[in-house]
Amino acid sequence: MNGEHRLRRVVIAGGGTAGWMAAAAIARTMGRTVELTLVESEAIGTIGVGESTIPPLVTYNRLLGINEADFMRATQATFKLGIRFDGWKNVGDSYFHSFGATGKDHWSAGFQHFWMYGREKGHDRSYDDYCLELIAAREGKFAHLPDDRMNYAYQLDSSLYAKFLRSMAEVDGTKRVEGRIASVELNGENGDIAALVLDSGARIEGDLFLDCTGFRALLIEQSLHAGFDDWTHWLPCDSAIAVQTESVRPPVPFTRAMAHDAGWQWRIPLQHRVGNGIVYCSRYLSRDAAQDRLLGNVEGRVLTEPNVLRFVTGARRRQWYRNCIAIGLSGGFMEPLESTSIHLIQRAILRLIRMMPLREISASDVAEFNDQQNQDMAQIRDFLILHYKATERRDSAFWRQCAAMAVPDTLAQKIELFRESGRVFRKNEELFAENSWVQVMMGQGISPRAYHPVAEKLTDDELARLLKLLRDEVTRTVAKLPEHGAYVVQYCGAARAVAA
Ligand code: FAD
Repeated sequence: MNGEHRLRRVVIAGGGTAGWMAAAAIARTMGRTVELTLVESEAIGTIGVGESTIPPLVTYNRLLGINEADFMRATQATFKLGIRFDGWKNVGDSYFHSFGATGKDHWSAGFQHFWMYGREKGHDRSYDDYCLELIAAREGKFAHLPDDRMNYAYQLDSSLYAKFLRSMAEVDGTKRVEGRIASVELNGENGDIAALVLDSGARIEGDLFLDCTGFRALLIEQSLHAGFDDWTHWLPCDSAIAVQTESVRPPVPFTRAMAHDAGWQWRIPLQHRVGNGIVYCSRYLSRDAAQDRLLGNVEGRVLTEPNVLRFVTGARRRQWYRNCIAIGLSGGFMEPLESTSIHLIQRAILRLIRMMPLREISASDVAEFNDQQNQDMAQIRDFLILHYKATERRDSAFWRQCAAMAVPDTLAQKIELFRESGRVFRKNEELFAENSWVQVMMGQGISPRAYHPVAEKLTDDELARLLKLLRDEVTRTVAKLPEHGAYVVQYCGAARAVAA
C-alpha cells in the first residue's frame, strides 16, 4: 500500500433488516479487506414489520451461500408466488400479479398480443390460465421444479431474518457494538462523518458509514442533510397499523392486498402466524377507524398490540452523500404494496459492494450509485402509482382523488403505449418486467386497442394449437404439485406450522 491511506473501516449504524443484510453481504464478500463494525440499540429496537418479498431475494441468499431450508425454518417463512389484489379495479373485483411469465413471448411481441388475437378469434380463456405461478397460487400449491422453472419469493419474519444474518455476519468477522448513538461527529475540514459517539462516550471511527437507522436517517439526513423528495402527491397513504394473528388455515403461497375506501390491507401467511396491516391515507380515515377496520377484517386471534406507523413516501435525494450511504428506510420509503423495500436494500448493498472504494471515494462512483438508486426508486414508484391511477373505483373521495391525479410523464407514457398497442418495454434493468406491467395494467382494467400484427401470421389452427399447448402445460404441471402448506412442513417445517 506504500503507506497510502487505505479505506478499510466500514461502520454500519443500525441493526434492522437493512443493517444486518448489509453486514452479512459485505463480511462474506469482502472478508478481511474491510473492518466491519455494526452499532445497534436494543432499547430503540427495529420497525418490526416487513414480511413479503420478491424473487431476487432467492438469488441474494444463494449469493451468500445460505441453505434455503435452514433460512426458511429460522424465519418461519412460506413460499410466495405473487400478490392477489382484491377490490383495486373495482369493488368486488380481483386479480393476481404473479411471478414468472405468462404464455410464451415471441422476440418481436409479448404473449399478450397472441392472446388478444385469440380473443378476437373466439378463444375466451383468461390471460391468467397461461401462467404457471398464477394458477399454482390460486390453487394453493407449490413445489420446487427442475431448472428453477417455478419463480418464487418468501413470506417471512424480517426480524428473524435479521437475527439469522447477524449470526452469519458475526461468524464472518463483523464486530457488533450495543449502544445508542448520541451524536454524529463530522470532520471539520471536509464535512465527512468522522465518528459515531455513543451514550457511553465511546467513539466509533470509520472511513465509510452506512446509515441503516431506519426512518430516523440519523446520519444521512439529521447530520448530512442529503435532502428528500416527497412523493405523497402521487402515493397519498401516510399511515399503517400492523397486527399479527394466529393462523387458522394452512398458509397460501401468496400475499393479499385488499383495497378499502381509503387505502388497502395486507394479509401475509407465515408458518407460525399471519401478518396483517392496514395502509391508509390519514386525510380520509382516522386512526381509530383504521384500527377498527383492520381488526374487523382479520382471521384468527390477535396476538400483538397494534403497531402504529406514520411515514412520508419519497426518496432521499442523495442516497450516497460524502462518506455515507443510506440503506433501508433511511434512504426512503414507498408503501409495501409490491413488497419492494427489502429488495431495495438488497439492490443498494450489491451496488455498493460493486463500487467499494479502495483509497478514496470517487465522485463518479457516487454519481453512478445515486443515478442507479434513483432510477430504481422512480421505476418502482411509477409501478405503485399505476395501481391507484388505473382504477374504475369512484366510491370514495380517496379513490376519486387517485383517479383524477396527474401522474409522472414516465408512467403516463407507459400507460398510453399499452392502451394503444398492447406494448410494454422494460428499460434499464427495471425491476418489474413486461409480464408484471401487463398483468397489473390488465388487472386494473386497461385494455389495449390493438395487438401486434405478427400474431396474425398464425393460421387459426396454429393459434388454437399454440394456446391449447401452453394452457395444457400449465394445467398438467399444477395438477402434479403438492399443497403449499404440506410442502412447507415437509421442506422446512418450523415449530407450530399449520399443515393441510
Ligand atoms: P429499522 O428496522 O427501523 O432498523 C433501524 C435500526 O437502527 C434499529 O436497529 C435501531 O435500533 C437502530 N437505530 C436507530 N437509531 C439509533 C440510534 N440513535 N442508536 C443506535 N441505533 C439506532 N418491506 C418489504 O420488503 N416487504 C413488506 O411487506 C414490508 N412491509 C412493510 C410495512 C410497513 C407498514 C412498513 C412501514 C414497512 C414495510 N416494509 C416492507 C419495509 C421494511 O420493514 C424495511 O425495509 C426493513 O424492515 C428495513 O428496515 P431498516 O433496517 O431500514 O430500519
